Amino acid sequence: MGLDLVTKINGRITMVHLSDLDSNIYLIDGDTIVDSGTGLNFVRLYEIFKKMKLDFDNIKNIVNTHMHWDHIGGNGFFKNAKIHIHEKDSNVLEKGDSEMSNAHYFNGNMKPMKVERKLKEGDEVFGLKVLHTPGHTPGSICLFDSKDKILLSGDTIFADGVGRTDLPGGSEEDIEKSLERLSSLKIDKILPGHGEPVLKSGDKVIKNIMGSVAEEL
Ligand SMILES: [Zn+2]
Ligand SMILES: [Zn+2]
Repeated sequence: MGLDLVTKINGRITMVHLSDLDSNIYLIDGDTIVDSGTGLNFVRLYEIFKKMKLDFDNIKNIVNTHMHWDHIGGNGFFKNAKIHIHEKDSNVLEKGDSEMSNAHYFNGNMKPMKVERKLKEGDEVFGLKVLHTPGHTPGSICLFDSKDKILLSGDTIFADGVGRTDLPGGSEEDIEKSLERLSSLKIDKILPGHGEPVLKSGDKVIKNIMGSVAEEL
């Protein structure tokens, strides 16, 4: 069973799943995206946008949940978009570091990118709160809508587990602390960087994942 290409989450957020290789792309308010995939499947994205009467040029802001190519590779297609990423992952984009971003793994041609705003814990971006949740990478973030209790979780947490910590900059200890922290929040929906969204009782899902991570140790 494959994931739907387009899933409407609520009045603001639409989830786009281009392929299993690409990160999920979350379109917010028609002018902002969270993560941009590898860019390899943008013919498909172009068609999806067209159906929504949108153009790539309509996108004014990109928030990247972290520095990996499967989340930032499409950034360059949005010519009018300003890039927002946590300060601890931003230098990888600014330097065009294809080693740390894993661009070479996707045959991506990484060039330096201009970062408009370096995010910190507690910042507010487009109505979402920045939670610094290191572990998958040093500057991994989740974005939290505390009103609707929606967590955009990047590769920190998925519907069925946590992100890998064996890539450069990863830390098992950090991701456990990040999980611990997320488990204290009241969360309804989880919108992860890959795979199915969690559409209800997100906080229970996180507690279950914490339990299974603890058992593995
Ligand atoms: Zn990813
Ligand atoms: Zn990643």
